[in-house]
Amino acid sequence: MSVGWQEVASGVLVRRHRELDLNCGLVVGDGACLVVDTRSHLGEAADLIAAVRSVTPHPWAVVNTHAHYDHCFGNAAFRPATIWGSRGCASALVATAEDQRAAVVAELLADGDEASAELMRAAPVDPPDALVDDVAVLDVGGREVVLRFLGRGHTDHDLVVEVETTGDATVVFAGDLVEQGAPPAFEDAWPAEWPATLGRLHALARGPVVPGHGAVVDAAFVGGQREELLAVLDALRRGRLDAGPYGEAVMRVAASRPI
Ligand SMILES: [Zn+2]
Repeated sequence: MSVGWQEVASGVLVRRHRELDLNCGLVVGDGACLVVDTRSHLGEAADLIAAVRSVTPHPWAVVNTHAHYDHCFGNAAFRPATIWGSRGCASALVATAEDQRAAVVAELLADGDEASAELMRAAPVDPPDALVDDVAVLDVGGREVVLRFLGRGHTDHDLVVEVETTGDATVVFAGDLVEQGAPPAFEDAWPAEWPATLGRLHALARGPVVPGHGAVVDAAFVGGQREELLAVLDALRRGRLDAGPYGEAVMRVAASRPI
């Protein structure tokens, strides 16, 4: 796993991190760039900023795919830039940040990682301030980038980042609506609605799809994950957690959510 950038289309880059196998994105235009997600704390954000600066000197805007800490607790390091996010992302971050922090700090301390726990304790809560309800079209130095809320899924506020590339192709940053290398995370999920949301994502994917975690995938992978989520929903509705496509622990979390 590289800590460098992978260019998935001209001027569209993905950085896959050892920490949590998290992906961040970078879209480079003419005199401007856009950073997708900001990592877990100011230390990781500073590392991401150095990586961005190794690619481009242009001023950035930022977008958060959703309010989970690993995607947005680094926000403050990118100020005073504009930070885009869904309206629900901003309110969810304000509402849940301290609970998220407490849970992560406890996990890190249990693992004996005092240094990371300290960085997590110090991470400012800095929610997005350019808020999207359904769709927003950004001009990133002459490149069109569309931010879309496609419906509830991994959370009630996931934002998808669609970047025009050459011809009819796109790169889609899917946040945690799509997960590669591990089962999707259901802690804040909407299992009954997630398949339809992924159906919409599948319909607009015309090229690389960047999951929130794991390797870059494509529309076919999104279609496959939609089928798995339909199987989860079917198992939940039949009360047969053993019949789902994922392990028992994952299925139990999914069963704790509204269906
Ligand atoms: Zn998440």
